[in-house]
Amino acid sequence: MTPPSLLPAVLVRPELLPPGLIGTPGRRPRRPGDSGFELPDPPQCPHDRLLVVIIFDDSYSVTGGNDPVGNRYREAAAALTHLGRRCRCGRLRVAIVHFDRGTSVDVDPTPLNRRGSRRLAGGLAPPPGRYSGSSKLGPALDRAQEIADAHPDHQVAVCVFSDFELLDPQPEAVLDRLCAWPGPAHAVVLHNPPPGRLRDAPTVTVTGIGWASDRGSVARAVYGALTTHSLHRKA
Ligand SMILES: [Zn+2]
Repeated sequence: MTPPSLLPAVLVRPELLPPGLIGTPGRRPRRPGDSGFELPDPPQCPHDRLLVVIIFDDSYSVTGGNDPVGNRYREAAAALTHLGRRCRCGRLRVAIVHFDRGTSVDVDPTPLNRRGSRRLAGGLAPPPGRYSGSSKLGPALDRAQEIADAHPDHQVAVCVFSDFELLDPQPEAVLDRLCAWPGPAHAVVLHNPPPGRLRDAPTVTVTGIGWASDRGSVARAVYGALTTHSLHRKA
């Protein structure tokens, strides 16, 4: 059993957010603050060209048992909706990749505006069906690299949601790839202490999410991935 001192400092309560947060047809979506957490006002357009590839691990070690998976996706949606309401310049883009590449809920790079955030919401769920996702990060990083290669005019960030119980043939080599990502890299580590390689890497922003984390912790991690490197560009 993991000693309490090694648990992430930030812990998550496995509570679901109110369904109105993401938006129900015919209803005006609630602001994130209505659900118990606040996000800062987004930086104004025009933004630097930034494409954030959000990578989700849906393997059983993440989704089985008492996982707060609803929180993870709902809070990510809240952050994207919050930012999408404000961006008009089209320079902020988001792609969603799940650990089993090529899933039906992957979303190609999409401008983060109102319309785009609705499209991206379709990717914020585990792939449907009797699905048991893989625990391999390598193929998702391959896909992220393909996206980066196709968008040489954007800075490309990766934001990985995983417990990092990886079953890649050489997991440490895969973590090294994440540490060496040429753009901003964020690791949102679910339930577990962060792997030492990530914790010690000056290039990776690490957020620990556990059972008692404050509401909004996941949303703030996504918000941070999309805004930390998208400073307001003065016209
Ligand atoms: Zn913008």
